[in-house]
Amino acid sequence: MSDRKTILIAGGAGYIGSHLNRTAHERGYHTVVYDNLVSGHKSAVQWGDFVLGDLADAGQLRLTLRHFRPDAVMHFAAHFCVGESVDDPEKYYLNNVAATLNLLRTMREEACRHFIFSSTCATYGIPRRIPIVEEHPQAPVNPYGRSKLMVETVLADYAAAYGLRYVNLRYFNAAGADVLTRIGEDHSPETHLIPLVLDAAAGRRPHVSIFGTDYDTPDGTCVRDYIHVDDIARAHLLALEYLFEGGESGSFNLGNGRGYSVKQVIDCARSVTGREIAVIKGPRRAGDSPALVGGTEPAARILGWRPETPRLEDIIGTAWAWHKKRFC
Ligand code: UDP
Repeated sequence: MSDRKTILIAGGAGYIGSHLNRTAHERGYHTVVYDNLVSGHKSAVQWGDFVLGDLADAGQLRLTLRHFRPDAVMHFAAHFCVGESVDDPEKYYLNNVAATLNLLRTMREEACRHFIFSSTCATYGIPRRIPIVEEHPQAPVNPYGRSKLMVETVLADYAAAYGLRYVNLRYFNAAGADVLTRIGEDHSPETHLIPLVLDAAAGRRPHVSIFGTDYDTPDGTCVRDYIHVDDIARAHLLALEYLFEGGESGSFNLGNGRGYSVKQVIDCARSVTGREIAVIKGPRRAGDSPALVGGTEPAARILGWRPETPRLEDIIGTAWAWHKKRFC
């Protein structure tokens, strides 16, 4: 019998999930994407099996787990826009929390015990110290971050009570695209800084709005730690191997440990694209933390993870190649 392991990828048609799917496939895993295609794209599911399904549909989930008998579930299926979560928190708690409980219940019923969770640096809230380490208090300042922290809490309780084994991966700002431009970031509507900046570079938008120029940061704009999506994907497989080898459940930051302001990102994009990018100064966006930069020593020491594409210009370069392929 083959010892090829199977991973169920909830939300595998989305941005980060599709990069994980490709990476897992390259590493010899059998993958099953489970996605309702509300925000994901069928065209991004280029590897493994695909099941059209919703996490809220317990019957469909059960059938899927029974059929494929996955060794692990990786859970990417969530809403992720900070501003929207402030305006419509119910959407976030229903999808990010309630649907996740459904997934975890089905996993328990079907004796699937390994879980990798897409968590976020937004669970830390306003940092007291930078870089943010995993032990930093978690006090999220928006419903998106709170919805993710709720699931982290549930996972710790389920691990203690039911023997679930999990890793929370707290992403900083995912960016970039597959180097061969087969998949990349494609949200509708787009709300993330780098694709919006590239839209402006491509002439698809007249300008980029900077959300707040009066933060207590070196140039007054928010600082974020941008991490290549392929580096995030690799970390998932390292985390899974760590669990398979008996590693303890826990949480790891995934970032580059270096922050860039909104203005620095725009300047970098000007240099990478060689295009004009017009900016206008706008008000702060509700729910934004001034600076989020991650310490990632535990991921390096325990998982053996190191970013392979740490330079912002390279991250933006891959995103620009994907952008040009579609729009220029
Ligand atoms: N941002 C901005 N203008 C935009 C979109 C985002 O100034 O049109 C800022 C946003 O306030 C944040 C940073 O860019 O400080 C990154 O935002 P994004 O939505 O990409 O990711 P988040 O940090 O919210 O996960």
